[in-house]
Amino acid sequence: MADGKTHATGTRTLAMFLFIGQAANGIYRGYPLQTVFFSSLALSVGALGGLFLTPDLDVDAGSDSEEEVRDISPLGENLWWIYWFPYRKLIPHRSPLSHWPVIGTLGRLLYLSIAYWMALAAAYFLSPALFGFLRQAGIGLLEFLYFYIALVGLASTDTLHFLMDQRIFHKIFRQRRWVPQQQTWWSKAFARNQG
Ligand SMILES: [Zn+2]
Repeated sequence: MADGKTHATGTRTLAMFLFIGQAANGIYRGYPLQTVFFSSLALSVGALGGLFLTPDLDVDAGSDSEEEVRDISPLGENLWWIYWFPYRKLIPHRSPLSHWPVIGTLGRLLYLSIAYWMALAAAYFLSPALFGFLRQAGIGLLEFLYFYIALVGLASTDTLHFLMDQRIFHKIFRQRRWVPQQQTWWSKAFARNQG
């Protein structure tokens, strides 16, 4: 219900608070500064990942996620749109599979990992060197502590998204931007990211 812009603002604000909160917590507990810095960074970068891996990737007409990718690469935007096409079509908008906290986050990570498995399978037949590299990169990521801290950040963003989609959120904040969803077929087809 909150639109894409509102969600993006929420995500950026959350990332900032997570960084400050984690840094204050780490310093208070007397952890080494380097650890404090990198864990705060991982947490907030993970949270910002929610700008791309948003629950609204399930919106049929596309989501603000593509616009975030366009800022980096216009070609990437198209590839990103195509990549998530089956996800959009398979999962109804605001289904528990895409929007419930933790479940939605894990589902998108699994879906994203399909690209990795496909590359790994192709490399198996084409190039042993590339296969070894990809395999090692995958294992390295799973053994990287900060990866899991970033996942906590990402899950936090998705949980915030879930809360912002609730009706109560609009009652509390009385968003000016929020308009009730129109039910005509063309507004459904062309409205970009109605939360
Ligand atoms: Zn949503």
